[in-house]
Amino acid sequence: MQAIKAIAKNFINLLYPLHCFGCGKPLDPLDEFHLCAPCIGSIKSNAMPPFELETAPIKAYSACLYEGASKELIHKFKYKDKTILARIFSKLMIDCIEENPELVDIDLITVVPLHKTRLREREFNQSLLLAGPISKKFRIPLKNTLEKARKTKYQNELSKGERMTNLKGAFKVCDKAEIGGRNILLIDDVMTTGATLGECAKTLLAGGALSVRCFTFARGI
Ligand SMILES: [Zn+2]
Repeated sequence: MQAIKAIAKNFINLLYPLHCFGCGKPLDPLDEFHLCAPCIGSIKSNAMPPFELETAPIKAYSACLYEGASKELIHKFKYKDKTILARIFSKLMIDCIEENPELVDIDLITVVPLHKTRLREREFNQSLLLAGPISKKFRIPLKNTLEKARKTKYQNELSKGERMTNLKGAFKVCDKAEIGGRNILLIDDVMTTGATLGECAKTLLAGGALSVRCFTFARGI
């Protein structure tokens, strides 16, 4: 049986050689994460207490730090369509939730939306790919409750003051009945200043949500 498995693996590898998305090293063809163990080990976990958003009285938790390996991998995940990286990112997020159970003491999971034009360009919302396995693991419903009402400039091209103005009124609640009185976990891939999370959280609260907690894969603040 072992021999048959080994032959099958070699055959798959011949057809679809698999290399680590981080360092390019050849991998077992059935590797779940497409990332070798040293590359997974080089993603730094976040030991800091939750970040208090400046624009809303809300806490934001993050599983890892946005630097080095995780920064490079997130860029690949978002811009080079290596969406399978969502598997390792969401696994690390699930590990973080297991240490912070208040993150799943909630009724509903939702994500930071993309504007429909950007969604068409990218073809997927990266935050939804991270939120899916979390919703499944903890059996909490996941819904798109927000929409991006207008296109905004890329936040990383703007000063701190400009970021706030850029986002003002940019998000809209899709259906207030879905969020009314609910405790919500808002998921995004990266928190840089917290401005986007803050604006989304404020929109959810203004739309009737009872509470909002934010959770990102990585934090750069
Ligand atoms: Zn590697």
